[in-house]
Amino acid sequence: MEQEKGGAALGLPKSCTSAARTMYLERMTGAELAAIRKAAGLSQSELAQRAGCGRHAVSYWECKPELDRRAWAVERITKALGLSAFSEALRARAAWAESLKAEQRARDAAIAAKLAKWQRARAEAAAKRRVRCGAKTRNGTPCRAKSVPGKRRCKFHGGMSTGARTTEGIKRIREAQRRRWARWRATRA
Ligand SMILES: [Zn+2]
Repeated sequence: MEQEKGGAALGLPKSCTSAARTMYLERMTGAELAAIRKAAGLSQSELAQRAGCGRHAVSYWECKPELDRRAWAVERITKALGLSAFSEALRARAAWAESLKAEQRARDAAIAAKLAKWQRARAEAAAKRRVRCGAKTRNGTPCRAKSVPGKRRCKFHGGMSTGARTTEGIKRIREAQRRRWARWRATRA
């Protein structure tokens, strides 16, 4: 009955379903709480007595811009006013949101695992792959030997080379290539 009055105080039609009322009450201001209390014909101390909390708790929350439904006193007060669906619905909703998040996390993990597996398989295949060497031989034809696995050249044409490994070596090859391309540009100009 008090819930009915509460609904009227909030400007909700009497025919309003309790689910709709619960939705509406999800975010409740202190002023709305005060309106519901007054509509129920209760003073702050009377409500506090019914809720089993202090009168100051009632006045404290009635001054708040929004009720914190996790607060112990808020739960007691809303229950005493017959608005317990308020906190219960929120708890249910929070649990539902949490389960959705857990599902999403599981999906993300499954996708990440699949991707990692695919990348491993690709790396393994690349490490084993042997292609035609194709290096220019002394008689001018491309080398027909198969490359060292995972490399592009055969063992006679640099397939075993690790490339430059020291800092100086890397610098040296970089300089050599720069000179080589500079020469190439010069011949074209
Ligand atoms: Zn070769």
